Amino acid sequence: MGKIDREVVTVDLDAESIKKDFPILSNSENNKSLVYLDSGASAQMPRLVIDRINHYHQHEHANIHRGVYDLSEQATISYESVRSTVARFLNVADTSEVIFTKGTTHAINLVAHAFGRTFVRAGDEIVISHMEHHSNIVPWQQLCEEVGATLKIIPISDIGELDMEAYGRLLSERTKIVAVTHVSNVLGTINPIKEMVALAHSKDIPVLVDGAQGAPHMKVDIQDLDCDFYIFSGHKVCGPTGIGILYGKRNWLERMNPYEGGGDMILSVTFEKTTYAEIPAKFEAGTPPIASAIGLGEAIKYLEAIGLERIEKHEKVLTRYATEALTEINGLTVYGTAPNKAGVISFGVKGVHPHDMGTLLSDDGVAVRAGHHCAQPVMQRFKVPATTRASFYLYNTLEDIDRLVSSVRNAKKIFS
Ligand SMILES: *Cc1c(COP(=O)(O)O)cnc(C)c1O
Repeated sequence: MGKIDREVVTVDLDAESIKKDFPILSNSENNKSLVYLDSGASAQMPRLVIDRINHYHQHEHANIHRGVYDLSEQATISYESVRSTVARFLNVADTSEVIFTKGTTHAINLVAHAFGRTFVRAGDEIVISHMEHHSNIVPWQQLCEEVGATLKIIPISDIGELDMEAYGRLLSERTKIVAVTHVSNVLGTINPIKEMVALAHSKDIPVLVDGAQGAPHMKVDIQDLDCDFYIFSGHKVCGPTGIGILYGKRNWLERMNPYEGGGDMILSVTFEKTTYAEIPAKFEAGTPPIASAIGLGEAIKYLEAIGLERIEKHEKVLTRYATEALTEINGLTVYGTAPNKAGVISFGVKGVHPHDMGTLLSDDGVAVRAGHHCAQPVMQRFKVPATTRASFYLYNTLEDIDRLVSSVRNAKKIFS
C-alpha cells in the first residue's frame, strides 16, 4: 500500500476536516469509529443541511404557492430559490425545466408514464443498458407491457463498459427513447453520455440519463451533455430523503401529459374539463416536501463551495488507492474495472459470502453494502448472486480505505 502520495491528496481536498462537517461521522459503530463506505446508497448530511431543515421547521413552515400571509410567501420564496440553485448546479438555462420529485425512482416513473403514455405505441422500442438500476428498468418494462412496446438492452463488456457498437445498431426508427445511467452504481463505470446523446439525436431519439450516481460526484453540464432528461436524488448529494430532481427539456415537458393530478398542477377545474398549469407546476401535484427541497438547496451549495471537480478528483484517488490495495489480496475479484470509473468498488472474495463479508466489516465499524444493489441483471452478467460494495464520497480518507482493506484481510482469515 501507499503508492499514492498522501501529501498531494490532502492538499487537494482536506477530507479529514470535511469529515468534521458531518455529525454522524464522529459516531462509532461497535465501539469503533464509523467508517462510512455506503454513500452510493445514501450520502450523509452535513450539519449545515440538518440545521437549515430544523430552522425551516421552527421558523418558516407554511404551505407554499397559496397563502397571502408573510410566512407562506417566505416559504414559497425559499422553495422556489432552490429551483434556481439546482438550475445553476446542472447549468440549466431555463429554470422552469427543473421539476421537484420525490427522488430518482419517482422521476423515472414520471417520465415513463408521462412521456411513455404520450409518445410510445405498440411496436415501438425503448433502449436501456445491461447495467441499469431496477429503477431504470422496471418502469420501462411496465410501459412496454402496457402499450405493446419492446425493451432493447445495450450489452456490457467483461470490464463493465457499454458496447457502443451494439448501441449504435440498436437505434432505429422504432426507438422512442434511450434511458441510460450516467454512472453504474455497481461497476462504477462512467458512461460516455455526451457521445450517446449525439448518436441518438442524429436519429431524433431523446435520451434520459439516470444521474443518481452522476450529479453527486462530478460536474454535470446539461447544456454540454444536451440530454433530454436528467435525474438525481437529494439523499445522494448530501441532502435529505424524499426529494429528487427531474430536469427535462421544455419541448418535451410541454408536450407530455401530466403524471399525477391534484392541487397546484392546474389552471382551472370544472367537472367538464381541467386545464393544466404551465411547467414546472404541471408536474408537481400536491404539497411537495418543502423542508426537504430547502435542505437539498443547502446541500448543493455546500458541494459547490467545495467544488465538484475537486470531489471527483478526490474520489478517483481513493478508488485507485483502494483498488491497488484490495487486488493485492489473494482470491479477491473486483467487478467493474473500466478505466473511466467513479468511486464505487464491487468485489467478491473466494470462500466468503458477500453478506458475511458485510457483517464482519460491520463488526470492525466499516459500513459497506452487500447484495445485488438493485441491479440483478448486472449480477447475472457477472454470474454472481451478490457482491460487497464500497462506495466513496468527499468525506472519505485514505485511512478509511486502510481500515476497509485490513478488515477485508481479517474476514478472509476467519474463513480460511
Ligand atoms: C440510488 C439509485 C437509484 C434510485 O434512487 P432512489 O433515491 O432510491 O429513488 C437509481 N439509479 C441509480 C443509478 C442509483 O444509484
